[in-house]
Amino acid sequence: MALHRIIRENILRPTNIPAAIAAVAILICGAVFDHQNGQLADERARAEVLSQANLIRAKLEGDINGDVQLVRGLAAEISSQPDMTQSTFAEVGANLVRADSQVKMVAGAPNLVISLVHPLRGNEAAMGLDYRTRPGQYESGLRARDSGDVVLIGPVDLVQGGRAIIARLPVFTHPFDGGRAFWGLVSAIIDLDKLYRDCGLVGSDAPIAVAITGTDGLGKDGIRFFGDAAIERDHPVRVNVRVPSGAWTIAAIPKGGWEAARPSRWLLRLAILAGGLVIVVPTWLIGRLVEERRAHLLRMRDRERELERLSRRLELALDASKVGVWEVDVEAQQLVWDDRMNELYNYPADGGPRDFTHWRDRVDEHDLRRAIWEFESALKPGRYESQFRIRLDEGRSRVVRAMGRAYVSSNGSAKVIGVAWDVTSDVALTEDLQRSKALTEARNADLEAARARIEYNALHDFLTRLPNRMYMDRALEENARRCATTGGGVVLLHIDLDGFKQINDTLGHAAGDAMLIHSAKVIRDNIRDGDFVARTGGDEFVVLCKADAGIAGFDALARRIIASGREPILYEGHECRLGMSIGIAGAFGGAVDRRQLLVNADLALYRAKSLGRNRFEFYTEELQEEILNSKQTADDIVRGLERGEFIAYYQPQFDARTYQIVGVEALARWRHPTRGLVPPNEFIPIAEELTVIGAIDRVVLELALNQFRLWRAGGHDVPRLSVNVSLRRLHDESLLQGLRDLAIEPGVLSFELVETIYLDERDERFSRTIDQIKALGVDIEIDDFGTGYASIVSLTKLKPRRLKIDRQLVTPVTRSDAQRRLVQAIVDIGRSLDIEIVAEGVETLEHARLLRDLGCDILQGYAFAEPMSGEEFERFMSSRTRLVAS
Ligand code: C2E
Ligand code: CA
Ligand code: CA
Repeated sequence: MALHRIIRENILRPTNIPAAIAAVAILICGAVFDHQNGQLADERARAEVLSQANLIRAKLEGDINGDVQLVRGLAAEISSQPDMTQSTFAEVGANLVRADSQVKMVAGAPNLVISLVHPLRGNEAAMGLDYRTRPGQYESGLRARDSGDVVLIGPVDLVQGGRAIIARLPVFTHPFDGGRAFWGLVSAIIDLDKLYRDCGLVGSDAPIAVAITGTDGLGKDGIRFFGDAAIERDHPVRVNVRVPSGAWTIAAIPKGGWEAARPSRWLLRLAILAGGLVIVVPTWLIGRLVEERRAHLLRMRDRERELERLSRRLELALDASKVGVWEVDVEAQQLVWDDRMNELYNYPADGGPRDFTHWRDRVDEHDLRRAIWEFESALKPGRYESQFRIRLDEGRSRVVRAMGRAYVSSNGSAKVIGVAWDVTSDVALTEDLQRSKALTEARNADLEAARARIEYNALHDFLTRLPNRMYMDRALEENARRCATTGGGVVLLHIDLDGFKQINDTLGHAAGDAMLIHSAKVIRDNIRDGDFVARTGGDEFVVLCKADAGIAGFDALARRIIASGREPILYEGHECRLGMSIGIAGAFGGAVDRRQLLVNADLALYRAKSLGRNRFEFYTEELQEEILNSKQTADDIVRGLERGEFIAYYQPQFDARTYQIVGVEALARWRHPTRGLVPPNEFIPIAEELTVIGAIDRVVLELALNQFRLWRAGGHDVPRLSVNVSLRRLHDESLLQGLRDLAIEPGVLSFELVETIYLDERDERFSRTIDQIKALGVDIEIDDFGTGYASIVSLTKLKPRRLKIDRQLVTPVTRSDAQRRLVQAIVDIGRSLDIEIVAEGVETLEHARLLRDLGCDILQGYAFAEPMSGEEFERFMSSRTRLVAS
């Protein structure tokens, strides 16, 4: 298949025909020439062989005739001496038979019987031979006699060995009668081998091989006696050798045969082949060239067609797209514009040749410089791209985009060819798109900003700009996740401002805000990068710190924050200091229970607050324990309340001048089944926390009122009863109704409110409650005065009946002038506002005198009596009555 194709494609091509014809012609001519050349050579060889053969023939004929001539001489001798004796014969014969002659022996046979022989030696056997007894010899003898001439016999094998031819001659005597008488025969034996040698048939380097036929002179009909039979078959050259009484035929061929004699024809053939190739190869090459040229022409034609088609298409496309094609001869400033260019630039279609000015006239003056620059600077790199406005008539304009390539034309001039098209609408569209894109982007940016703002607001406190509780929750969550993956830890500081409400109330909300902002700054200034601070409530802040190494060192941070807060700042002329309490809790080793962490920090904060504020506490297991204990206590309290384990103790109050009992303060005691009598400081804080303080207050009030009635009934006149009232109790809905039901005599019952209570709770509801209590005839006293921040304004508003100066202020009066002046000032305020002053914690009579001198109205303290049970109190009064009575 493949071979077939190769043959078809490479050999059977029309262009190979001339070469093929030439090859065939050369082949034929070559063959003929070769043949003729062969024949010629053959003929030359035959002629050569013939001449050689003729040479041999001539030699044979010469030698045989020579020998025969000798025999004739002998015959003539005998003819003249018919009675020749043997000896004479030998003499004459010796002339014939010489060492170098071919004649070996001569014999004379008168009357056909041999009687003369020379040489006799060795030939004795021939003597006496009668031819008539030898038919073959006899017949030839007769032939000789009859023909009268020599008869050549043989070759024959000699009796004495060897081969020879025998020349037999009749001898006639010429008697005087003139007639002729047959004498007998003379025979000569001619040594054939010597003859052969002498004629060059053997032992010579004759170039031919010879065969000779014609025994007894029978010519070619005779028997071959010399040479090879093969010679006869090889178209030999034949030459007749005339011998006496007949002929021999020599057949000759060149030694080794005709083929060997023939000169080599390969050189000639090679020459012919070379000559043929000289003709055929160029012919074939020309054929190939012709074919290639034809293929080339075909390709050219195809290309031309393709070009035509492409041009048509291009024309169509350009027409449809309105793309103009231009060409500039840079030096000549000549333009070649197609119809569409003219149309684009608003020139008539057949406006003749264009040049640079046609273009320049149309380009908008604002774009002209740039357009020219762009064109010129495009010449070097060879790529031109430009966009410019052109101005048409009636104020119309167009935006043209042009692109081109620089090249050097065949005549060496620099040219630029390119296209140009109208991009007015594209430009307008792009501008539109850009405008709307910019608009969209602006809108998106607005939206993004709004979103960011909203998110920021959602996660930040607007006042301090700190993250808010929600953000803190997230941060904590994130920290928890981090800890879970890294096994790290986190520490949480819960910070609460001390006395923030007082500032808010006494100096106003703006001051409160300023304090908060300042607090935020203080905290932020003290934490490190990476710590997180949030404002989580009114005056609460939380700091979250990464704490993979544990909680150590956070006390320093807390200390720093508190110390910074204590530094005084000025607010509208007032010097303010921030008090801060901090609870610290941490979670480590990867597991962070966020809720627990917050609760723990809260517990620590609570502890810090309850231990006196302006301090920090770490959450500890013990703290937890205590909290648990207080929970236990709380349960106990509730149970104790149910079982009536709470009782009231009573401490009397005295007139500073007369030392008369003017009142009694009821103080709660817990008669615990196992702990014995428990003082209030061990259960009041827990009760407060647990909201059961109100219940205790109520129990104490009821017990005290009962006791009060019993005393009265017993004849002991106690002018007034004071009870401590907690904030919770004040908020107790049933308080007012209960008081109403009791129908209390005005001026007999007094409520002691801690200074901080009324300052913290200065709202409408609080004021209303106070007013209603007063309206029921119950006095209001301010307990622990001097420890809080009560202002004179608030005192005028609340109008308490009495102030109780706190024990902490009272105790030092005996030692310190300043304390005395402070108590003096409180007394003065009380006087000016018509408020009675009670001093509590009066432990010595010295105190009592001093306080009396300072102007205190009422005194309460161990100097007079400690708190005691109802019965004890009754006994106390009885003894006093006795004392007074005695
Ligand atoms: P308080 O209202 O200031 O009560 C006076 C406290 O001072 C009493 O302690 C009393 O025993 C003590 N005291 C009296 N004279 C002296 C003195 O010369 N020297 C010293 N060092 N102390 C003296 P108590 O009874 O342990 O009560 C402690 C606090 O418990 C009270 O302070 C009061 O705030 C609160 N409390 C007591 N009973 C009740 C109650 O029924 N309801 C409420 N809400 N709080 C109560
Ligand atoms: Ca009190
Ligand atoms: Ca007090």
